[in-house]
Amino acid sequence: MATLPQPQIITDMYEAASRARGTKGRSYLGMSGIGGRCERALWYGFRGYTPSALEGRAQMIFNLGDLVEQEVLKWLRAAGYRIAEQQREFVALNGYFRGHCDGVIEGATKRPHILEIKSASSRRFKMFQKDGIRAVSEEYWAQVQCYMGYSGLDRAVWVVMNKDTCELYSERAHFAKGEFKALEEKAVRIINARDRPPRGYPEGARDCGWCAYAGHCASDGPYVQTTQSCGSCCYCEPERGRMFCRFPAHPNEITRWGEFCLDWKFKQDIDRVPF
Ligand code: SF4
Ligand code: SF4
Repeated sequence: MATLPQPQIITDMYEAASRARGTKGRSYLGMSGIGGRCERALWYGFRGYTPSALEGRAQMIFNLGDLVEQEVLKWLRAAGYRIAEQQREFVALNGYFRGHCDGVIEGATKRPHILEIKSASSRRFKMFQKDGIRAVSEEYWAQVQCYMGYSGLDRAVWVVMNKDTCELYSERAHFAKGEFKALEEKAVRIINARDRPPRGYPEGARDCGWCAYAGHCASDGPYVQTTQSCGSCCYCEPERGRMFCRFPAHPNEITRWGEFCLDWKFKQDIDRVPF
């Protein structure tokens, strides 16, 4: 059967979803991503380099995850669990390292647990069931270690919903102080890095296919830089966990990280200019 062109209504919706995401990155290093293998990608995100615009369908998948989270919360409460401190924010390392947990749940055992809700495709859900959360996602594991480390709680629980079947999976984690410290050191290393760290994967690696910073990372990749803030500016210099501006007319320490500045000059404009 011949493939029909995609109806305009579908194209319009994908484009709307893509626009909704925009191209603005976050202005801090996120605890949700600190377990990622590529420190260079984490550095780009922290420094406010513009990520590639996510295609509309991928944006819809992210949004669906938010809806699933609300659904899981609803059924947890209906089942009698008490959930407090929804979206509690953890702030560390002079405000440059941040995270938001889904809540603190009581009733899982005698102790309160950090609650993390995830949604997964059938394929990934089966991997969680078979191998456990950490074997599938080092990011998920690192995320709850940070939340436990900064909250003082020593237990966490994930509740995962299969998006295709509504099957549920749950797993608990204990706080591992030594590994939390290693994650914190990793965050310090990224915040203090003057230049982008080495690649986490070799050029052409499959894992780079999803990277929002692949254009910046490649020596000749197409990329855009839409925001003019300190992290991507050639005058910005980190020093022992603080950020300083070396532009002569400005005060020394940067206090408005992530905000627009007229004197911004792209850090890489010596050999590359964004378009
Ligand atoms: S393209 Fe690959 S190596 Fe480069 S920043 Fe992204 S994940 Fe890291
Ligand atoms: S010149 Fe502006 S953008 Fe650049 S580091 Fe200084 S304050 Fe930040």
